[in-house]
Amino acid sequence: MDGLRFTCQPNCTNCCDQRGFVYLSETDVLRAAAYVHMKPAAFEAKYVYRTRNLIRLRKPRDKQCHFLVGNGCGIHPSKPTQCRAFPFWPELVENRKNWNDTAKYCPGIGTGQLIQIGTALEMAQVMKQAYPAMYEKPSK
Ligand code: SF4
Ligand code: SF4
Repeated sequence: MDGLRFTCQPNCTNCCDQRGFVYLSETDVLRAAAYVHMKPAAFEAKYVYRTRNLIRLRKPRDKQCHFLVGNGCGIHPSKPTQCRAFPFWPELVENRKNWNDTAKYCPGIGTGQLIQIGTALEMAQVMKQAYPAMYEKPSK
């Protein structure tokens, strides 16, 4: 890939409505809790599910994310790293097929200024920093 085009489109929430989990870093938890004026422990009890290696938002029964309200994100200024970084995720910018498949539900892909692939890869680093357990290579 030489470069990628992307501009997020107004009034679109398609990426918030895809099946999957919203993963959180420790900082994401603190930031979101502060934004909704909750103590971190109370926020966690209500919205967060932890495993040994990963932290993620709990999913409500009727939609993909508790914070998807109307046509936007209810915690937009403090949304989790993976939401801010999308679609510049390593698994998408490093793989043309995955990038093109994502364009089927993300109308922003393929629009706007050309972003050099090196810049896109740098942008994707934030995901590896926020969620190291998701990206660490299995030990041999
Ligand atoms: S699906 Fe794409 S265009 Fe739509 S909100 Fe998400 S990033 Fe923006
Ligand atoms: S936290 Fe906000 S941006 Fe992230 S999936 Fe939920 S509604 Fe969408």
